Amino acid sequence: MIRFLVMGLLFYIGYRIIISLTSAKKPLQKAAENRDSSEETYRDPVCGVYISEKEAIIGRHDGKRHHFCSMNCLEKYREQLDHSSPS
Ligand SMILES: [Zn+2]
Repeated sequence: MIRFLVMGLLFYIGYRIIISLTSAKKPLQKAAENRDSSEETYRDPVCGVYISEKEAIIGRHDGKRHHFCSMNCLEKYREQLDHSSPS
C-alpha cells in the first residue's frame, strides 16, 4: 500500500516538472516579439522633441493620444487648449 502511494507521488512530481517546463517557454517568446515592434517615436507638439513610447507622457484630447517629453509640456498644451476653445 505504501509502495503504491510512493509511485503516485513520483508520477505527480514528474507531471508537475513537465508542466512547468512546457509553460515556462511561452512567455519568453512573447517578450521577444514585443521588443521589435515597440520602437516607435512621437513628436511633442509643444517643444518639438521626439520621444519614444516608453519615455513619453501621454495626454488624451478628443480621443487622440498626444505624446509629451515632460509634465511641463503636457500642462502647457492643456493651457493652450483652454485659451483657444472656451467651451
Ligand atoms: Zn516637450
